[in-house]
Amino acid sequence: MHKGNNIEKVNGYGILECETCGFIHIDPVPSKEELDRVYREEYYMEEKPRFIERVIEDLRWWETVYDDRFEFLESRLAPGRRTVLDIGSGPGYFLKRGTERGWKCLGIEPSRQACEHARGLGAEVINAFFDDSTAASLKGRFDAVHLSEVLEHVPDPSGVLKAAYGLLEPGGILSAIVPNDFSPVQKVLTDRLNFNPYWLAPPHHINYFTFGSLSGLMRKTGFDALEQTAMFPMDFFLLMGDNYVANDELGRASHSRRKKLDIMLNEPELKGFKNELYSLMAKHNIGREMVIYGVKK
Ligand SMILES: [Zn+2]
Repeated sequence: MHKGNNIEKVNGYGILECETCGFIHIDPVPSKEELDRVYREEYYMEEKPRFIERVIEDLRWWETVYDDRFEFLESRLAPGRRTVLDIGSGPGYFLKRGTERGWKCLGIEPSRQACEHARGLGAEVINAFFDDSTAASLKGRFDAVHLSEVLEHVPDPSGVLKAAYGLLEPGGILSAIVPNDFSPVQKVLTDRLNFNPYWLAPPHHINYFTFGSLSGLMRKTGFDALEQTAMFPMDFFLLMGDNYVANDELGRASHSRRKKLDIMLNEPELKGFKNELYSLMAKHNIGREMVIYGVKK
């Protein structure tokens, strides 16, 4: 039973600070059928959805993002342990990068077009939603599970984490990436600069995590906390006066600047600083997305 304070009302949904779940989510939580209809009506109708085109346009940057994650996993797992499941693998570039680095990769992805794109890159992908039954159909276990931008979209994030836990070998690592919402930067934006809570997007975003609530949920699932880091704080552009909210052109321009910076910070002279900078941001609950690694006991 979901209960707690209703802190906002957006698109006909309440935003509930749920005591039962331990994180903020929309109220009511949409059913699987409802969500299936929403998604089918949107991206799935287009021949080549815009999100695939944007990933391709941003590819050089995505490669640095994926390299950071693989580097972390490789630093914590023995050299023989190189199998990874990517839940919500999208157009398949995480899988491609992993394969290039010597990993054995499998993806699972509900979008048919994204799946076909990934297969065109040579990736092995199952075209399905990730749930208990698809998890049970997978043979063997993995050394790592990559769960990027999934948990905010699903009606039962705890169930997804449990299923992912069950698919990991002992000592295996989960990397969970979600938007960092209700952050100190967003608080300054709403309290001092009159921004609306623009990050609330029901029914697409069902759950709104903080570093504390996501790491708490991971611990409840059985994971030991391993490391927390962040992705570039896009909302700094808002603090600087570049209001990209509801302005796609300015949004892409801001994104382009962050890509250039991230790519340059990956140069060997700056890489150590970059890693420390982003983990320092995570300590202060700053960064547009959070990256939390947990290990299966
Ligand atoms: Zn709840």
